[in-house]
Amino acid sequence: MIATRGYAAQSATDALGPFDFERREVGPHDVQFEILYCGVCHSDLHQVRNEWSHTTYPIVPGHEIVGRVTKVGSGVTKFKEGDLAGVGCLVDSCRECDNCKKGLEQFCRNGSTGTYNGSDKKSGGVTYGGYSNQIVVDESFVLKVSDKLPLEAVAPLLCAGITTYSPLRHWGVGKGHKVAVVGLGGLGHMAVKFAASFGAEVTVLSTSPGKEQDAKQLGAHHFALTKDAGQLKALAGKFNFIIVTVSAEHDYNTYLGMLDTDGVMICVGAPPTPSQITAFSLLGNRRSLAGSAIGGLPETQEMLDYCAANNIVSDVEVIKMAYINEAYERMLKGDVKYRFVIDLATL
Ligand code: NAP
Ligand code: ZN
Ligand code: ZN
Repeated sequence: MIATRGYAAQSATDALGPFDFERREVGPHDVQFEILYCGVCHSDLHQVRNEWSHTTYPIVPGHEIVGRVTKVGSGVTKFKEGDLAGVGCLVDSCRECDNCKKGLEQFCRNGSTGTYNGSDKKSGGVTYGGYSNQIVVDESFVLKVSDKLPLEAVAPLLCAGITTYSPLRHWGVGKGHKVAVVGLGGLGHMAVKFAASFGAEVTVLSTSPGKEQDAKQLGAHHFALTKDAGQLKALAGKFNFIIVTVSAEHDYNTYLGMLDTDGVMICVGAPPTPSQITAFSLLGNRRSLAGSAIGGLPETQEMLDYCAANNIVSDVEVIKMAYINEAYERMLKGDVKYRFVIDLATL
């Protein structure tokens, strides 16, 4: 077993603190790598505080992981020692079901394995994530990372990036489309970058007046404050697509009314509490309400390659490991520009 140092929460009400644990030995198809940076996703906070009611403690969060390969198993063909590597939200799946065969491992019919707080079929225990100094993952779930982009700003692509890239690609968002992004946080700012890069006209819908200038710098063409009823009214029936990245309870009906004929609203945010939707929000304009979860392995690699080719990265605030509990509090206030990334050298 490989002695590993990380940061964990011991219960839903405990702060995160140092935690020592063991990773499995490197098997024939495994890649071991030193973690250099790990992004901080709002899903980490939801699960650390058991807001989705399925957390096993202790929990070592982190699924936006980049680092450098230190060891490979005898059967590994994709990686060698010294390569850059990335791991996102998944570390395993059955690889045999139709969804896995289509590269939709996130929808594995036999249950994919989350990078943390997942049941580890190999060890029988729970998986531990990227708030740690190293990780061992089957090469099929390790992504290739370009050395052309700043590594700390690549880390958030592994979740915030793919979670927004995937639905935009699935629904063919591009030139001629009006797209709204609700919530300008980690996911939201990547949605703005991708939608603008694909040629859409992008509007940010935010609760934070201070984010208007940033939104435009990130590539948005318009900005509206969702607390201002007048600004919202002017957006009725306006958008072909709306991507909702909001992490807390809010009224989906408000945004559904902004969809044009045959428009689609895609939920990627995962608030812990259910919301009510009136059928009337969907009947007019033949609107659709949809969702999307991360992305499969082939599409995640495609997204990383697209970012390398088009110079797209996340806007990050690099933090020390010990700052994580403060970072969570700031994330809850919407005070993130636009992704915290942990420098694991500070662990
Ligand atoms: P984040 O960085 O905290 O951003 C969330 C943003 O939502 C905030 O910055 C804020 O933007 C807005 N917001 C927060 N509270 C709000 C409220 N009460 N009403 C309206 N707007 C509010 O979080 P994130 O990491 O981007 O994650 C967003 C959500 O996506 C989380 O629920 C996370 O678990 C989920 N997620 C889902 C997937 C998936 O596969 N579907 C993957 C990753 C994450 P403004 O200041 O602009 O209003
Ligand atoms: Zn995430
Ligand atoms: Zn499967």
